[in-house]
Parts: sequence; C-alpha cells; structure tokens
Amino acid sequence: MTNKFNTKNYDYLIVGAGPFGMIFAYEAAKRGKKSLVIEKRPYIAGNMHTHTEHGITVHDFGAHIFHTDNKEVWDYIRRFASFNGYQNQVVANYKGTLYNLPFNMNTFYQMWGTKTPDEAKAKIESQKQVALKDLGDKQPSNLEEQAISLIGTDIYEKLIKGYTEKQWGRPATELPAFIIKRLPVRFIYDNNYFNHRYQGIPVGGYTQIFEQMLSEADGLVDVLTDTDFFDHKEELLAEFPRVLYTGMIDQFFDYKFGELEYRSLRFEHELIDSENYQGNAVINYTDAQTPYTRVMEWKHFDGLADEGKTIITREYPQEWNRSKEAYYPVNNDKNTQIYKQYAKEARQNHPEIIFGGRLGKYRYFDMDQVFNDALNTVREEFNVPESFNFAHDVTK
Ligand code: FAD
Ligand code: UDP
Repeated sequence: MTNKFNTKNYDYLIVGAGPFGMIFAYEAAKRGKKSLVIEKRPYIAGNMHTHTEHGITVHDFGAHIFHTDNKEVWDYIRRFASFNGYQNQVVANYKGTLYNLPFNMNTFYQMWGTKTPDEAKAKIESQKQVALKDLGDKQPSNLEEQAISLIGTDIYEKLIKGYTEKQWGRPATELPAFIIKRLPVRFIYDNNYFNHRYQGIPVGGYTQIFEQMLSEADGLVDVLTDTDFFDHKEELLAEFPRVLYTGMIDQFFDYKFGELEYRSLRFEHELIDSENYQGNAVINYTDAQTPYTRVMEWKHFDGLADEGKTIITREYPQEWNRSKEAYYPVNNDKNTQIYKQYAKEARQNHPEIIFGGRLGKYRYFDMDQVFNDALNTVREEFNVPESFNFAHDVTK
C-alpha cells in the first residue's frame, strides 16, 4: 500500500470523529497543532450525528438530549450552535396503558391512585418491606434490588423489568445498580426526564457543531472518513508519535485480556404521511414482548417542521458481536476487572496513546461528560491551567 498518511507533518493522529476526538482536534488546532482524524463511518460527529430531511432533524443514533450542571460545558457547546429549551418528557406504554416517566407523583397516581407524597412513599415502603425483607441494612447489589428499593415492586414489574432486560439482554439481577439511578425518582408532579439545570437540543441538529469546529480550525484538522484504524494499525502507529484513540479499548489490544461486553442497537426509521403520529417525542415500550424499547418522533424535539409528514424511529436493542456497533459498555464486575487490565496495559506500555470517550474508557458517559473529559484531556496535554475556562476562549 502506498503510504497515504505521512504526506503532511501532523502532531496528532485522532481515531474517531465523535465528540471526544473532534473537541481534542479543535482545541489542539487552537494551540497551533495539526491533527489527522480518521473515522470509519462516512461522516463526523460520532453517535451525535444528525441529518435533516423534510424539514425534520433526525438523530441517526437515537435521541440525544443535552443535559448538564456543568456551566463551562454548557457555555462551551452553545458557542457552536443555538439551543432550544427542549425538556424530555417520556411516556411509557405498558401493554396499552400509559404512564409518565421518570418516576414521579404523576406515575404514582396512574399506578396506585395516590395523591400525596406521603401516600406514595407509604405504598413504596410497604412493597419494599415484602420484596426486600432479606436485604436488611445491606446496600442493593444489583439493578433489581436497587429499583425495588427506590420505587417498589409494581413500578419495577411494569416499567423497569421488561424494558431493562430487553435493553441489556440480561436478567436485572445481573446488572449493576447504578444504571437505574440514572433516572430521577421525585415526590413532586414533574415529568422532566433529567434533573440537570441546563437542558436542550441544538436548533438544526448536532452535526453543525463539529462542522463549525472544523471551519474554525484554519486547516489544522484534516478528516479522513471511511477509514478504519485497524486496516492500517501498524503503519499508523509507526508514523504518528502521539495518538488519541476513541474506539474500543479491547479491540486496540487485540482482545488479549478477553472481550469486553457491549450492547448494540438497530434503528428503524420510517417516513409517515401524518402530521402527528404519536403525540410525543419519545414513547417507551416497557413490556418484555415488544421487540423495541422506544419510538422517537423527531418533529416533536423542536416543533419546527410543518409539512404533512413525520419521521419516526424504532430503537431495537440487540446482542453485540464484532460485526456490530458497540453502543453501550456493560459495566458489571466481570467487565470492570477486564477493563482494568487494559487500562493498566495502556498506562504502562503506551504512554504515547491517549484513550478517551465512551469506548476508549469503557464508561457509560453522557455527552456532557465526554465534553468535560475531552476538555480536561486538553488541559493535561497542553498544561492549560485549571482556572482556564474553555467557554470564554474565543481567540482563534
Ligand atoms: P462516539 O460518539 O461513539 O464516537 C466515536 C467515533 O469513533 C465513532 O464515530 C466511531 O465510528 C469511531 N471509531 C470507532 N472505532 C474506530 C476505528 N477503529 N477506526 C476509525 N474510527 C473509529 N448522551 C447524552 O448526553 N444525552 C442523550 O440523550 C444521549 N442519548 C443517547 C442515546 C443512545 C441510543 C446512545 C447510544 C447514546 C446516547 N448518549 C446520550 C451518549 C452519547 O452518544 C455519547 O456520550 C457520545 O457520543 C460519546 O462520544 P465519543 O466521542 O466517546 O464516542
Ligand atoms: N429504564 C427502564 N424503563 C424505562 C426507561 C429506562 O427500566 O422506561 C432503565 C433501563 O435499565 C435503562 C436505564 O433505566 O437502561 C437508563 O435509562 P436511560 O433512559 O438513561 O437510558 P439511555 O438513554 O442511556 O439508553
């Protein structure tokens, strides 16, 4: 093969044009450093990729709502796009009956007819006493125990167990407790899916954020799409002194300590001749039988489209194997132990490579955490003082 990678003097090779890789490339460019970003997909933005058709902005890899308490990250992302004030309010469909999510006074009323916080708490406590009588003072050790201890057995059985087991392909008793703690439990009538102070979606979608970064990088960032790192691994590692890698960490090391487990997804998009198909942006199907977990109707995320058409996406969970996209790490004890071996190997034998992002660090990161981690990596790499605020840095 002719050497297509050494034609210019790059400071960094960046594997993956997702948010972690793109933020690093952009900030490196601001510091005069030149990067080559390689991306195996045909486009940039990673799982944040969006496109617009029939005036409707579609998120290609599932609904992405930006939510954070991190003011620097919130100010930073809004330099590249303007955000609407979208608040996610998910409806759950359990065998034809509808409930509000996350778990709040509306859900408790729909489930039990309870009207006050004390009534709802008493109901949860009585179910918990029966189902978790053997737990005593011990902390919940898995998702099932954690869920029942937070909201009782009725909600667990109808809104959590079926959804969780199809999403993760494992019994809830074999999943880590922290996953269910992502969802708020509130004793007020409030259907906001997140607790964070800053929430929204960029008007026109997420891809523009990374396009804007490229255009501000003044030619210091080149992107090669449709290029898989593993087709050129040895050549690239020999060529580039410093590498940022945001792919799967176990694949980087040729699975030498064993495969980490991931969960995959399949998205089925449909254009429908209707003004309004389901009346909400997201409806979750929480029974075990429906093969998809949720249905998104994109026009409801921004209310901008007014044509007589709508686009919906059904999200089907699926088992991961090496031919499928890895969307979620499965952060249970077994995988955590394996990951630690890879992280140690990376630290000890590859100080020239930075491992970052959801797959490089094998962490269930949300976008704001990826933004924060990427900016902190820039801080370390370029000795940027802790007090420096990236959101206020408007120099080119
Ligand atoms: P990614 O976005 O996955 O980007 C990594 C890139 O690297 C990809 O483009 C990939 O193709 C490329 N790559 C991998 N291996 C190679 C290789 N060998 N060679 C070349 N390129 C490679 N977060 C929120 O904050 N709010 C949400 O509402 C939300 N919803 C989500 C819904 C779903 C269904 C999913 C899956 C995730 C959601 N997230 C959400 C999380 C969000 O997608 C991630 O936090 C974020 O995309 C991670 O960024 P990243 O750069 O680490 O990885
Ligand atoms: N969950 C559930 N029922 C729902 C929605 C979520 O049981 O209707 C559980 C499920 O285990 C899921 C977890 O809560 O994996 C976190 O949900 P979230 O919506 O944050 O998942 P993500 O958007 O990351 O897929």
